[in-house]
Amino acid sequence: MKITKTETFIVHAPIGLEIADSHYRMGHWGFVGLKVFTDEGLVGTGYTGTHCAGDEMIKQTIDRYFSPQLLGENPLHVKMLWDKLHGGNLHQVGRTGLIRYAHSAVDVALWDICAKAASLPLWVLLGAAHAGSTILTYNTNVGWLHFSTAELIENVERAVEAGWTGVKIKVGGPDPAQDVARIREIRTRFGDSLRIMIDGNEGWDFNTAMYWGKRLEEYSVYWFEEPLHADDVEGHAVLARELSIAIAVGENLLTRFAFRDYIKVRAVEFVQPDVTRVGGVTEWLKIADLADCYNLPVVPHVGDMMQIHQHLVAATQNSPMLEYIPWAQELFEHPVQVRKGHAELPTVPGASTDMRQDVFSRYRVD
Ligand code: MG
Repeated sequence: MKITKTETFIVHAPIGLEIADSHYRMGHWGFVGLKVFTDEGLVGTGYTGTHCAGDEMIKQTIDRYFSPQLLGENPLHVKMLWDKLHGGNLHQVGRTGLIRYAHSAVDVALWDICAKAASLPLWVLLGAAHAGSTILTYNTNVGWLHFSTAELIENVERAVEAGWTGVKIKVGGPDPAQDVARIREIRTRFGDSLRIMIDGNEGWDFNTAMYWGKRLEEYSVYWFEEPLHADDVEGHAVLARELSIAIAVGENLLTRFAFRDYIKVRAVEFVQPDVTRVGGVTEWLKIADLADCYNLPVVPHVGDMMQIHQHLVAATQNSPMLEYIPWAQELFEHPVQVRKGHAELPTVPGASTDMRQDVFSRYRVD
């Protein structure tokens, strides 16, 4: 099989609501990626996820630098191609950052072809790791920072009724006392069996995270995600040591080496690589295995809107659950199916990245 052509795209899909965390406010999610065509008729689709910024640079990286290196190659030689792109002419200027985002899109498209060539869903090709045909999810969409406390409670109530046993609440606002009061309210109303994660999106400094983290301990918070800037490995290590709440980090780490630096000093306890950022499936699997060597669970950040990550969680022994963010589901031919808090694993061959042509055309901006 040979790669004959690539075609890049930028799609800005509405996410159905205006959301906010301690860092961003937005109403659209950017899908920047490519279709990879082969001489055997198989087409792979891969993309990265953005806040609708930097999209042109990612697209240009693929068009100008990656696509010429792919033409004529066998798409099934996916790890060889990963090395080729990584070691190519962009190595010096961009082993990480948006070059990694572009690389991720390519790698996912190639794995999509691998799974389609094997006539298997990706999670089966990679080796199914869990019993049954569903995986547990937790709900992030209930807990954005701009929701009033009343809206937050209403959202959590609906999620619990629908079968979710875990929710993530954003913190990191200008008034930490207010954030803590919201967590207290949720814990009091919904009891001990609800798994409550909190996410600071790098919003606090060390002293704030330590002081308010201590106050959050009594509410049995399951993890504290990105309390500090993601480059502060040592700060996270101290928090991990001093707080009884587990520390979660990963959505802003883009290489296996960045994860290694966190893991080896025990600065992270829930490892959260995003396949659309770390360099695709190839690098994601290495990070998951590295975490397993330290007996750490992997719960990925889902910049792909769960499509690829459902396959990766299903294929990873140390990955207990999938993050639920249901944005832009209308875009996909086979959107993730979640019932009673569990994702029903795909049976269609591939990585679930194929997009519906009509919706794709409507939101395409390039
Ligand atoms: Mg997060």
